Amino acid sequence: MTARNGSFAPLDPGRRILMGPGPSDMHPRVYQAMGAPLTGHLDPYFIGVMDDTKVLLRYVFQTENDLTIPISATGSAGMETCICNLVEPGDEVLVCVGGVFGDRMAQMVERHGGRLIRLEGASGRPFTPDQVREALAGCRPKLVGLVHAETSTGVLQPLEEIIRIVHEHEALVLVDTVASLGGTPVKVDEWGIDVCYAGSQKCLSAPPGLAPVTLNERACTAISGRKTPVDSWYLDLSLINAYWDGDRVYHHTAPVSLIYALREALVLIHEEGLATGHARHALNYEAFKAGIDAMGLGFFVDAPHRAPTINPVLSPDGVDEASVRRRLLEDYGIELGGGLGALKGKAWRVGLMGQSSQKDHVMLCLGALEETLRAEGHEVAESGVAAASAVYADSP
Ligand SMILES: *Cc1c(COP(=O)(O)O)cnc(C)c1O
Repeated sequence: MTARNGSFAPLDPGRRILMGPGPSDMHPRVYQAMGAPLTGHLDPYFIGVMDDTKVLLRYVFQTENDLTIPISATGSAGMETCICNLVEPGDEVLVCVGGVFGDRMAQMVERHGGRLIRLEGASGRPFTPDQVREALAGCRPKLVGLVHAETSTGVLQPLEEIIRIVHEHEALVLVDTVASLGGTPVKVDEWGIDVCYAGSQKCLSAPPGLAPVTLNERACTAISGRKTPVDSWYLDLSLINAYWDGDRVYHHTAPVSLIYALREALVLIHEEGLATGHARHALNYEAFKAGIDAMGLGFFVDAPHRAPTINPVLSPDGVDEASVRRRLLEDYGIELGGGLGALKGKAWRVGLMGQSSQKDHVMLCLGALEETLRAEGHEVAESGVAAASAVYADSP
């Protein structure tokens, strides 16, 4: 890797099978799109690419929202964009914290001057409508933040009823869909999500570096009614949207190649069909679950609350969690995530996101895990591969 005799080794990471919490695998067409000739960021051809990207993002977000664009930075910047545009100093904001990403949202609210009300969740369980109703009885927030798929725990948060409750209290709803968009339904308009952000590198299977956001009319009205300027120049949505819409005013140089790649990744989702893609994610999760159950391993989250896209699997007693991950990477090129936050050192986080949600990935991962656990001296109950195979055989 390092320079020898004044020259550097050619860049060659080797083959990787990305089954961690993101990035996920990219389709060959997305790699190809990244290599297309650069244009200027105001080139008429590129403006067409931007317009396609907006149309395709509305498709995956299932929304008609005008303001639907990718922010030029990672998912965390999508989070920060939504917060810094909506929160003014002194505004009350309720954040439901069920893991690392809810906590990140809470930190951002405080940094942007919001008066934070933290609702702590039980580890590994979603928030109930009653918990949110109770919290709202004691405050009058402008905004309520939730994480749809909390990547640190693998919990999928049901949203519809909670959104109704939040709207009864006349607050806006902000939802983190970084680890769910493209992998499981996110119905922005039907559910009434006011503000929402995602990340390019998870279930959308584009390279990291872009954060799609979508805001409805209510959210845009809240922004235009601000008394103070947004406290970030780079993430100020009115400035950014003047480039993405209408006058095409220069704001920052768009990351042209990343936007090519995102457009192609979204075209692939559109070609497959959103519902078909969601069904594929659900099936591969079911097969993976059958395999993990058969092997006698445990999930962190109870079955009804699991996200199909990201699942912490508990590392059995006596097994070195990090050593298994190292072997999987060295022997198979498989990347799994380690435990994050409360699960550090205790679990593998297995992502079945976007292009990584495939039968061949599930079978290889289960087989490799089985072999590696035996090599580490842990007896596996039954074959995970056989159990997963039975699920695929039963599926239409
Ligand atoms: C990955 C992730 C983020 C942060 O995205 P980055 O691209 O790493 O900045 C935020 N929220 C959730 C739920 C995530 O999974």
